[in-house]
Amino acid sequence: MQSLPKSVNNLINQFANLPGIGKKTAQRLAFHFLSSDVELSHSLSTALLDIKQKIKNCSTCHGITEEDPCKICSDKKRNSSLICVVENAYDIFVFEKTNSFSGIYHILGGALSPLDGIGPEDLNIDTLLDRVNEGMEVIIATNPSVEGETTALYLSNILGKKGASVTKLARGVPVCLLYTSPSPRD
Ligand code: ZN
Repeated sequence: MQSLPKSVNNLINQFANLPGIGKKTAQRLAFHFLSSDVELSHSLSTALLDIKQKIKNCSTCHGITEEDPCKICSDKKRNSSLICVVENAYDIFVFEKTNSFSGIYHILGGALSPLDGIGPEDLNIDTLLDRVNEGMEVIIATNPSVEGETTALYLSNILGKKGASVTKLARGVPVCLLYTSPSPRD
């Protein structure tokens, strides 16, 4: 909008670039900050910088954490012979919300996509193979996309050869219905 000061237009454009935020919402947000105390702008900018400065990847599961290893990997109450393989850190957040999965996770950092030049060496597959041993149970919970299915098939083969029991999770089925913890975590 040409009638708005440059800095306001800039903020609207920044918001509009975020996923799920259209131009109108971006404008509403910008005007909300304009009419709010400066503390709101401060706390938002601090929170945005914090996640870039404090968050690192867990060296075991590749999840996001402030301490390495992450809380899940260092939780002795979790079943370390049950690994759920997901594409991204956000997937863990979704699973953990059910509060019923008692195993641990491994984040691939994406999915195999030959068309985009993403091969096994571009994902956290080596570290997954290091963690999986004979007799362990692996749940593959990649996304229900062509890439996710390709990745699941690839992993099923190589993990099966290591003697692991591999299950492909049907997405949309709450994980708690399939894998309930013998004694619910507190
Ligand atoms: Zn971890």
